[in-house]
Amino acid sequence: MRESLQFYIDGAWVEPAAPKRWEVINPATEQPAGVIALGDQTDVDRAVAAAKKAFRSFSRTSRQERIEMFESIIAAYRPRRKDLAEAITDEMGAPAEIAENLHALIGQIHLKTAMTVLKDYKFEQQRGTTWLMHEPIGVCALITPWNWPINQIAAKVSPALACGCTMVLKASEYSPFSAQIWTEIMHAAGVPAGVFNMVHGDGPTVGAALSSHPDIDMVSFTGSTRAGIEVARNAAPTIKRVHQELGGKSANIILADADIAAAVTAGVKSVAHNSGQSCNAPTRMLVPASKMAEAIVAARAAAEGIMVGDPKAGVEVGPVVSKVQFDKIQGLIEKGMAEGATLVAGGPGRPDGIDKGYFVRPTVFADVKNDMTIAREEIFGPVLSILGYADIEDALEIANDTPYGLAGYIQGTDPEVIAEVASRMRAGQIIINQAHPDPMAPFGGYKQSGNGREWGDHAFEGFLEVKAMLGHPPRGTQEAVARTEAL
Ligand code: NAD
Repeated sequence: MRESLQFYIDGAWVEPAAPKRWEVINPATEQPAGVIALGDQTDVDRAVAAAKKAFRSFSRTSRQERIEMFESIIAAYRPRRKDLAEAITDEMGAPAEIAENLHALIGQIHLKTAMTVLKDYKFEQQRGTTWLMHEPIGVCALITPWNWPINQIAAKVSPALACGCTMVLKASEYSPFSAQIWTEIMHAAGVPAGVFNMVHGDGPTVGAALSSHPDIDMVSFTGSTRAGIEVARNAAPTIKRVHQELGGKSANIILADADIAAAVTAGVKSVAHNSGQSCNAPTRMLVPASKMAEAIVAARAAAEGIMVGDPKAGVEVGPVVSKVQFDKIQGLIEKGMAEGATLVAGGPGRPDGIDKGYFVRPTVFADVKNDMTIAREEIFGPVLSILGYADIEDALEIANDTPYGLAGYIQGTDPEVIAEVASRMRAGQIIINQAHPDPMAPFGGYKQSGNGREWGDHAFEGFLEVKAMLGHPPRGTQEAVARTEAL
């Protein structure tokens, strides 16, 4: 049994103000994986006060000091990767190999990316006799979900630290143990007291206390659109900056000149990856009507070939995170059948031979219409909807007919057509022919998928304020002084 019963405030592990426990369930076994303490307003007040105090000095640290801090964090992170992976498998069910080589690795990639960007980032820019100073935004609340737990923590903490902000992290109460290890890494690396603080808690208590706190300057939130709306509402009275990474219902347009079987197979695997719990999963597959029969054969074979089971037993796909998610997904699969979509593979219930754990059958629906519930709602499980299209105009119409706009996928061979389709998809990231993820590429959504961008240099913008200084160069900018004198 894991235990994470303390919070990390002002450089020390502290007891919660009031004892309140939350049992974390291992989704593969339905048995307790461990226990955490849930915080309240008093814990949040303490953590925010520590971050506010630390901001005075940390915001004025030099670029070089912060680079050295990143070197220490990366050195402390590397030996904990296995621990992180094991925690992630226990708390959210990621298969062990994926937990280590993706979930835990991505944290290190975000740290390194932020350090690389920091080395050359232009915090000062001159425009005529005006200087634009990009200054740390202040005390940040970082609220993260459970689906890629360390990815989301690292994608927020890394740029926040690089920009000179101080912060309070509230990770998901479903994935607190990886957050605990992350915090131990921060401590071991010697991040100055008060710069990074961590309080466990649920959304309505700690999440709401952070989003409404008068001493929080910015909230960076990743999670559901439902909770994102709550965060924005709670932040509004104090005019906080709110950065949101929310849900998605991304279209995967398979063009007629693609290798249909290969594209469909990759698309099915991509939806099932991480048990379908990726905000940017390509959950609406758009296939030319003339190629539908071939696509259905390939989709069925791909879905039926996916190994689902014990995440510690070398499978491709483990359980979904919780009973709540399991029940929600089962309900949506039944809804798809009731609304008239054709079940091609999978369906309700657990995979054959599994009688406990929150395991979902990789499920594919064909004959899906874009107004069906399974095409509109984010299912967050291994469930794919296949929709037919008549021509490219029709495909784009369907792809963009969604309140979301996180990612778009295109499979095809003609570069002109791909460029045209990519330019007309209303989404923050377009992934062409299974391109690999790029940690420098901005990640974030159009429309109700959020605002702002994470990853790479764009991530810095959310953690900086812009100050315009007119007529006088920034202190210590010798070059700038010389340039002004020459004017
Ligand atoms: P969630 O919204 O239930 O929870 C996310 C976090 O917000 C958790 O820490 C939770 O405790 C907290 N929270 C919940 N209610 C809150 C409130 N009222 N105020 C403040 N905080 C609150 O989401 P989840 O189920 O943990 O994660 C799944 C969702 O996250 C999906 O919708 C998925 O698409 C989205 N997601 C988006 C991205 C992205 O980058 N766009 C990435 C990953 C996940």
